[in-house]
Amino acid sequence: MIEQPLRATVIGSYPFPSWLEFASRNLDAFGPADIAEMQEDAVIAAVHDQAAAGLDVITDGEQTRFDFNLSFYGYLEGIEMEGESPRKWGPPAHDQRGKHRVTGELRAPRGLGAVEEFQRLQRVAPPGPALKASLPGPYTLSGRLVPNDAYPDRYALTEALLPIVRRELEALVEVGCRELTVDEPSMSCYAYREDTRKLVDIFNRTVEGVAGRCRLSTHLCFGNFKGHAVGYRRLAPMFPDFLGFNVDEIHVEMANREFAEVEILERIAAKKDVAVGVVDVKSYYIETADDVAERIRFCLQSVPADKLSLAPDCGLSQTARWAARRKLEALVQGARKVRASL
Ligand SMILES: [Zn+2]
Repeated sequence: MIEQPLRATVIGSYPFPSWLEFASRNLDAFGPADIAEMQEDAVIAAVHDQAAAGLDVITDGEQTRFDFNLSFYGYLEGIEMEGESPRKWGPPAHDQRGKHRVTGELRAPRGLGAVEEFQRLQRVAPPGPALKASLPGPYTLSGRLVPNDAYPDRYALTEALLPIVRRELEALVEVGCRELTVDEPSMSCYAYREDTRKLVDIFNRTVEGVAGRCRLSTHLCFGNFKGHAVGYRRLAPMFPDFLGFNVDEIHVEMANREFAEVEILERIAAKKDVAVGVVDVKSYYIETADDVAERIRFCLQSVPADKLSLAPDCGLSQTARWAARRKLEALVQGARKVRASL
């Protein structure tokens, strides 16, 4: 059960300031000290926006994962930076991202960088909101690696990455992280065609060192690269198996799916806390506080208030910052309205 009914939370990512995007394309122009300063400034900006909106839970906005060398893949040994994008022109889609070649044993002797990110967040965050870290799971991370003789398929790559992610999660809890999201968007996108019990087993082995030691959640994502979904947008193929995830809370997208399959909320609430996407990160219609309040009241027909958290549908990294800010404000104001009427 959550400490406060109708907690206002986020998934994890937040849009980069324009200068950070510019810098990420011109990193050669900066020295390591400049980059470190830039990373901290970007986190300060993301934290500011989230705290100013009045969220109960905030993240570092994943502001430091802006370049291959600064992302999880940059921490991995045994891979080569992505090759050419298979498609460079035309409307944006995930086939415009290259995959990484595996050249040796997959190892991460320096960890995956999430501990440093969380410690930075602890340093710059104001008192008040809970601090959350989020980390993609091994099945999702394996999706951008090309199998080879040593790791012949996606599951072999996943098994090699699993202990690396598990160690990072444990290290996060050891530095004081009390709220942790492990995201496996590839599991929710491909549940309709994969063995869901096998996916649940992978997930639970990933989190076995931290389950029960922190508040653990996951976000069932249908994809948001460049603002587009990639999965079959139905929750039904994931259930009931995904109720077996060893987490305290499951988050589902609802706003951009017009609350399709809302009956799932009641089934999740019977076993877990529920977080619901009540603002659409893919639409530039800016929800009002009243829109959000109406959606929350609708969710309350299926989930008791002390088990319900409210969030955007997905991370906000693909939403313009002005819109992200206003959507978070509406989210918080809508939650406050309903909370006051409970
Ligand atoms: Zn998502």
